[in-house]
Amino acid sequence: MAVETAAHSELTDIQRDITEMVRQFADEQIIPNAERYDHEDSFPEPIVEQMKELGLFGVTIPEEYGGMGLDLTTYAMIVEELSRGWISISGVVNTHFIGSYLLMKFGTDEQRDHFLPKMATGEIRAAFSLSEPEVGSDVQGIKATAKKGDDGSWELNGQKMWVTNGLGSSVVFVLMKTDPKADPPYRGMTCFVTEKEPWQEVNEGDFAGLTIPPKIKKMGYKGVESTELVYDGYRCPPERVLGGEEAGVGQGFVQMMDALEVGRVNVAARGVGIAQRALELALRYSQERKTFGKPIAQHQAIQFKLADMATKVEAARLLTRKAARMKDAGERSDLEAGMAKLLASETGKECVEECFRIHGGYGYSKEYEIERLYRDAPLLLIGEGTSEIQRMVIGKKLLQRHRI
Ligand SMILES: Cc1cc2nc3c(=O)[nH]c(=O)nc-3n(C[C@H](O)[C@H](O)[C@H](O)COP(=O)(O)OP(=O)(O)OC[C@H]3O[C@@H](n4cnc5c(N)ncnc54)[C@H](O)[C@@H]3O)c2cc1C
Repeated sequence: MAVETAAHSELTDIQRDITEMVRQFADEQIIPNAERYDHEDSFPEPIVEQMKELGLFGVTIPEEYGGMGLDLTTYAMIVEELSRGWISISGVVNTHFIGSYLLMKFGTDEQRDHFLPKMATGEIRAAFSLSEPEVGSDVQGIKATAKKGDDGSWELNGQKMWVTNGLGSSVVFVLMKTDPKADPPYRGMTCFVTEKEPWQEVNEGDFAGLTIPPKIKKMGYKGVESTELVYDGYRCPPERVLGGEEAGVGQGFVQMMDALEVGRVNVAARGVGIAQRALELALRYSQERKTFGKPIAQHQAIQFKLADMATKVEAARLLTRKAARMKDAGERSDLEAGMAKLLASETGKECVEECFRIHGGYGYSKEYEIERLYRDAPLLLIGEGTSEIQRMVIGKKLLQRHRI
């Protein structure tokens, strides 16, 4: 049961067509199969193959590299629809999208030519790696290092944590410390475009020195793997410093924070998608289930829940699209991206919880879709910066913009 919203009437023809196409894909291919992949915690290969055929790995990659060349706003609409189906599916494209953004904005011509055509088709997929076992929010505290060797290559050492698509990816955009004495620390960090064999736990040959331990067992967000990455003497050629050595060494922190800004719009869209699905499930169940002689939707307390959910979903969607449109227009949107991520991820969690309550005991049963949503939604409060970190970003930007 898809719920029509005012925001859908503001779409361009391309946006309407592609949104409808992805919505149908979610209804026919993702939603009916998500439960099985979630319960098995297995990678949804057939769904991913169909996404490749639909061109969904190249939505924002320019046409000259074989992508669709669409903007962030349209991408956010697509992510909302995929996440309405299952947020793990949007997780498969999320870090890939961030990687392609990094290449388009900061990559050398050679890096773009080498990676983007294969990324546009989904032939290779990208991962994005900042976090470490002891560091998540405080990115400047990373410990993994890269040191330039006599042969000109860089030797990477250190452990990374929580890498989405860590095993199945062929390329990882990874942040390393290249100048441990830099003050402030962020000036001594560099992003390396590290290549690897997909689905190989131990890499050999050109990619020797990179191992991927067994995937982390998670509460939800199943199907898409989250792994550690262990770099131990991995050699990275100088031309794989993002943007080239001259422009890229020492710029990794700034580059990756820039990418997180679009990443936050992406997570916001996922929050809207999961909240939308929770609303749809609540609307259906509340009209089917009867108590005290009438459908529970006829009890005012339940109607108020539905009203609050629909209102929050709409607000989160509008703010997400505003942040995306500002970025597309070339405006600074860090404040709005932070607000969108905060509101939409919290809305996702709140709507899922209300839908769960509306389902009564059945919400606790694995037979009902809401049980999966209940385990999936909390991830959005954490990834790409927790709600506390978003509030810090918003507060800081507010004070910068309104200095007296
Ligand atoms: C399923 C999953 C997938 C992920 N995928 C990726 C990925 O692909 N790549 C990647 O690099 N990372 C990934 N992450 C990591 C994620 O980005 C981090 O978990 C997140 O940034 C939070 O870091 P942390 O877990 O170390 O928490 P911490 O930074 O240790 O924070 C712990 C708590 O303290 C709060 N806190 C921290 N600092 C402050 C402060 N100054 N003021 C107030 N409160 C504060 C936090 O909000 C949080 O509540 C993933 C995480 C998960 C769970």
